[in-house]
Amino acid sequence: MSPILEIKNLYFTYEKQRALENINLSINKKDFLAIIGPNGGGKSTLLKLILGINKIQKGSIEIEGKASSSCLKKIGYVPQNTNVNTDFPIRVFEVVLMGHTSKRRVLFGYSKDEIAKAYNVLQKVGMKEFAKNKIGSLSGGQRQRVMIARALFTDPQILLLDEPTSSIDAKGQKEVYELLKILNKDITVVVVSHDISIILEYASKVAYINRTLILHDIGANQNKFKTKDEHFCEVELLNLLGSKTKKECSC
Ligand code: ADP
Ligand code: MG
Repeated sequence: MSPILEIKNLYFTYEKQRALENINLSINKKDFLAIIGPNGGGKSTLLKLILGINKIQKGSIEIEGKASSSCLKKIGYVPQNTNVNTDFPIRVFEVVLMGHTSKRRVLFGYSKDEIAKAYNVLQKVGMKEFAKNKIGSLSGGQRQRVMIARALFTDPQILLLDEPTSSIDAKGQKEVYELLKILNKDITVVVVSHDISIILEYASKVAYINRTLILHDIGANQNKFKTKDEHFCEVELLNLLGSKTKKECSC
């Protein structure tokens, strides 16, 4: 099976500070990749490189064999800290449409097809009945599901989410991950998160990024896990503690 996303020998430097070094990563269509690592480790930088927001300086990122910057429509993105102004009287379906329609459309109204599409993606995230509600009336978890609907508007093959559950309660977090699990039947999911125990319930692969990347293949059925170099992260820790969510990893 050829990978849907393939990153080779990727380096990235901000002015004088190197943020990413020799990143190699290959993920398949049905993968659910979680990206973990310390603050400032380079997680958001990597997502921005995949999205073409940061320009590649060295190395390559390909989606189905083509430069990712040439197929951005295949990627849906839920950015970190999406601060929708909750006091602003905008309705849920309009949040989904924002950013996908031309300025002319925003001035003169949306087409029937666009509105039908917005309802369709809201249905996929279980939020259709809230389409006409004000965005400010929703819970944090519901709002994040609307942001996921917005990312689904272009029918992406890969969904990238940057810390989607960082400001929502435990129930909302679980709902978001359950939704991602359902979406993962058709879409590759890549999620940056700190919720390590939740991640291990859902992810097939975990990438630990702290300037370099170390991959844990959670799905691999290996009886022993090895540590590589000096690497030790939460995945190993949970293994050592014999957590209920114990998983094998090979890195
Ligand atoms: P993470 O998402 O893992 O917290 P980031 O990718 O945001 O990490 O940041 C990686 C490193 O790059 C950090 O040291 C951060 O300070 C630096 N950095 C991020 N964005 C910029 C920027 N726009 N300009 C300069 N340095 C940046
Ligand atoms: Mg970040």
